[in-house]
Amino acid sequence: MRREYDRKRRQSHPWRALYKTPEWQAIRAQVLGSEPLCRRCQAEGLITAATVVNHVERHHGDPAKFFSGPFEPLCKPCHDGEVQRQERAAEAEGRASPST
Ligand SMILES: [Zn+2]
Repeated sequence: MRREYDRKRRQSHPWRALYKTPEWQAIRAQVLGSEPLCRRCQAEGLITAATVVNHVERHHGDPAKFFSGPFEPLCKPCHDGEVQRQERAAEAEGRASPST
């Protein structure tokens, strides 16, 4: 089940191939090189090594936006939390839920 989900997810996001480009590898190295600590952890007073370069604004698969940023260095847990938050927000946009 889980593998099926991953496969569908990859297919529905062909722009994921952008992460394999030399251009992205260079951006990633540059961001992590200039700011090696997770920005969100730092805001909480924690010192955590950043391993993921996150797009601050959603790029929606647009290569121009994908490569221009802005970017922020994050640790894996912060990045995964951010992605989940964005997915929940996108879901909420799709349905008219009463604000309680
Ligand atoms: Zn973090």
